[in-house]
Amino acid sequence: MVMAADPPVIVWFRRDLRLADNPALARAAAAGRPLICLYILDETAGVRREGAASRWWLDKSLTSLARDLETIGGHLVLRRGVSAAVLAALIAETGADSVFWNRLYDGGSVERDAAIKAALGATGVECRSFNAALLNEPWEVIGKSAGPYRVFSAYWRAARAVSSSAAPDAAPKRLVAAPRPRSETLASWNLHPRRPDWSQGFAGWTPGESGARQRLDAFLNDAANAYSSRRNRPDVEGTSRLSPHLHFGEIGPRQVWAAIHDAAAIGRVSEREGDTFLRELGWREFNHHLLFHRPDLAKNNLDARFDTFAWRRDDGGFEAWTRGRTGFAMVDAGMRQLWRTGWMHNRARMVAASFLVKDLMIDWRRGEAWFWDTLVDADIANNAANWQWVAGSGADAAPFFRVFNPTLQAEKFDPDGSYARDWIPELSGSSAGAYPPPIVDHALARERALTAYRSLTT
Ligand code: FAD
Repeated sequence: MVMAADPPVIVWFRRDLRLADNPALARAAAAGRPLICLYILDETAGVRREGAASRWWLDKSLTSLARDLETIGGHLVLRRGVSAAVLAALIAETGADSVFWNRLYDGGSVERDAAIKAALGATGVECRSFNAALLNEPWEVIGKSAGPYRVFSAYWRAARAVSSSAAPDAAPKRLVAAPRPRSETLASWNLHPRRPDWSQGFAGWTPGESGARQRLDAFLNDAANAYSSRRNRPDVEGTSRLSPHLHFGEIGPRQVWAAIHDAAAIGRVSEREGDTFLRELGWREFNHHLLFHRPDLAKNNLDARFDTFAWRRDDGGFEAWTRGRTGFAMVDAGMRQLWRTGWMHNRARMVAASFLVKDLMIDWRRGEAWFWDTLVDADIANNAANWQWVAGSGADAAPFFRVFNPTLQAEKFDPDGSYARDWIPELSGSSAGAYPPPIVDHALARERALTAYRSLTT
């Protein structure tokens, strides 16, 4: 029974833009109290702002969430500003006495949330937080030395053993909405690019909870059963493309985990393929574990020996790399796919990143920042950890002497060159422009990198 005088609960959505398997929403709805569903375009100092491609995604994902909330009697309130101040103002306006949210794990968000919890708690407002983003909290999986893991295989062995098999919560059927507070409009946030609108190539994506579900179903129907043999091939649709949906929390890893197990139980997906795929989710977990324990992951080398590394400035090389004009087809196809669609195949990401860091010897942080702005799945944990992995400065990193040969990588993973032709029209003759010659001699660049890397270890 809902009393008219019941104070509302604020459900603060962040990167958990879904109704199902959303513990903050489920617990608030279960209390039967009026709800205020809130999204804040956050301006807190120290919290990293979304890049341009992610803002495009966020725009569509919030539209989808607002629509989904309306169908169960809710309403999404949009406010922009410093989160602590926005929450305090909304509490004063509405008399809300509790705020529920799902946790984030990057340093800026962790600090912000702790400060908000302390400040609101001191005024008698109850703050409760939950886990919607990970299979395991970063502090739940701890090695024998009682410290965080630095080796993935050991981490994943331990994480799999403690992963909960609890079924994800269903979406609430009906919400009790509080009287509507003032909301800003999404259009006023200008998240969608204008002048120029460079987002035409993003049309293949369907941001939002139902788009995420469709993506997972399509994957289970097709690519999942050949995942281990096709996942490294950028020229085929061999992976799930769930990364932006997972980043924005339109689907959670518990749901993906449960779907894979259900599919394996009825023979829709083989155990082996399912396990190989879940292991990739394991990397996502591991990277969040690393980020939580090293909040400076996107700023500093995990291996401090790299602090003295002689990175080159090379603005011309950097620009050629960003534009997909290095003269190496696997690198250029990847970089153009990224620019056009906001996503790049993992194999191409590894080759493109290795080229920047090793062939051009440009600081991994410049590459990380470019990816941050152009990827729809840009994620502090996954982006920074993978860049450090490629550079060799990270945890469980690729050994420094592994320098990807972009030509051999293309021969192996794009054997008939169709990925290259898809993204580089100059190669198929469908563009008048000339494709540039290689900007470096790979053999010489490799030697230069190895010499520099060796100086770190001697
Ligand atoms: P699938 O193969 O279908 O994998 C399923 C899910 O597992 C992915 O959606 C993702 O959540 C997770 N996953 C897969 N591979 C990795 C990995 N290597 N590390 C962490 N999680 C993984 N991924 C991001 O989500 N955001 C990033 O900002 C990001 N930046 C990267 C930067 C570099 C330099 C490199 C080499 C990799 C980066 N990745 C990043 C990891 C990986 O490339 C993408 O997660 C993957 O390509 C997404 O495609 P998918 O969803 O089809 O993957």
